[in-house]
Amino acid sequence: MTPAGKFCAGSTRTILYEMEAKVRIVPINTVDAAFLDRLAICLEERFLTSVRVERSLVVARSTLNATRGQLFVATLNGKVLRAHPGAEAVLLAVTDFDLYKTSHRFVFGDADEAQGVAVVSVNRLRSEFYGEPGDANLLFQRTLKESTHELGHAFGLRHCYNARCAMYYSNSIFETDNKMPHFCDTCDRRLARTRNER
Ligand SMILES: [Zn+2]
Ligand SMILES: [Zn+2]
Repeated sequence: MTPAGKFCAGSTRTILYEMEAKVRIVPINTVDAAFLDRLAICLEERFLTSVRVERSLVVARSTLNATRGQLFVATLNGKVLRAHPGAEAVLLAVTDFDLYKTSHRFVFGDADEAQGVAVVSVNRLRSEFYGEPGDANLLFQRTLKESTHELGHAFGLRHCYNARCAMYYSNSIFETDNKMPHFCDTCDRRLARTRNER
């Protein structure tokens, strides 16, 4: 097994708080197990909490909006929450389906802090989506950044104006590539404060 540090470069920082909430990754249909295990290890480092990969949740293609060929975020959130009732953890769904919201043509992900659910789509994180050759490492880094971002929201963080911070709002893949897979010092401090208030 490859040490997590190799995947999570830049995340080894001294953080003086503890996160007690747990995170559960919910794969939607088939998502590569090794990929998710790697994601879980890196997210554990970011959020200092245990992260578990759940069994996959089957979401039929017929659930997609037929005209758009995309999955409505609220529909997915509802399914994930119904599949894990009373989960005392933040649920992070990872899907290959392209996602949209009423106000957005597409989203890389979304989070609902009140309901404790976050979603990330790898659909537009693949190089192939942009007509480029597949790149497994780049896909992983992008997924880690967007997962960190959405979990940040689920733990109470807002968008950050630092374009290098994981909490920066990405409207394009260029902005995702430009940001770091972890939080800036300000967001790190905010995260610690948010946790202490609970
Ligand atoms: Zn956001
Ligand atoms: Zn920040």
